[in-house]
Amino acid sequence: MLEIKNLTKVYGAGKNKLVAVDTISLMVERGSFFGLLGPNGAGKSTTIHCITGIAEPTSGQILIDGLDVVKDYKLARSKVGLSSQEFNTNIFNTPEQLMDYMGGYYGLKKDERKRRIDALIKRFDLEKHRSVIFQKLSGGLKRRAMLGRALVHQPDLLILDEPTAGVDVAQRKDLWEYLKELNAQGTTIILTSHYLEEIEYLCNEIAIINHGRIVAEGTKAEFIQGGKSVEERYLEIISNENIPLTQ
Ligand code: ADP
Ligand code: MG
Repeated sequence: MLEIKNLTKVYGAGKNKLVAVDTISLMVERGSFFGLLGPNGAGKSTTIHCITGIAEPTSGQILIDGLDVVKDYKLARSKVGLSSQEFNTNIFNTPEQLMDYMGGYYGLKKDERKRRIDALIKRFDLEKHRSVIFQKLSGGLKRRAMLGRALVHQPDLLILDEPTAGVDVAQRKDLWEYLKELNAQGTTIILTSHYLEEIEYLCNEIAIINHGRIVAEGTKAEFIQGGKSVEERYLEIISNENIPLTQ
């Protein structure tokens, strides 16, 4: 579903030069639930921004379903739904408008948009808030509105950059169940999160990125072998990047 080949992203130049992503290669199989982990500043969001056209790769190549995200931007992007870490939206739009504009952008006809939006609003319990401007929504409702917007065109690949930050426990658990369902129905999902129990519960593939480089990659089973939790394994790898995943 997604192939990243030697992706590098450099911000700035001269003494302000910062290599945010450094020659990353990753393969995400169709149908997988892929966890991208790493400390703050590791390069997770930058990688996601390169996949979704928010940032331009400095070098390397990204293919979504075989389509180059730079050369075939529109078609490649239409296969992806993104819920970004920052709320990159017009704060004066309502959840309903956000989904409607995004559906329109992807060419969904009016009737189809309405059907999709009604279903998403119902699923994310946004009925009472469908016409409330984004700015006035609580953190959890904002996240759900962003998720609805990401899903309106039924993308093959859903990318969630810290989707549960600021979401309460009950809502988080509900979101987990929804994401499991969506994945079971065939949507490939890439998730970044600092909640490692979330990653352990949901993901079947995991990659750890640190200082812009992939420092570990494998199946969840490989990560937790020997009775460790993903969190224990993660801390071990981050504190000593030289430990191979399978030893
Ligand atoms: P993560 O999502 O893993 O926390 P980011 O990808 O947001 O990390 O950031 C990686 C590095 O790139 C950080 O050092 C960050 O400050 C820097 N960075 C991110 N976006 C920009 C930008 N637009 N301009 C300059 N530097 C950036
Ligand atoms: Mg980030």
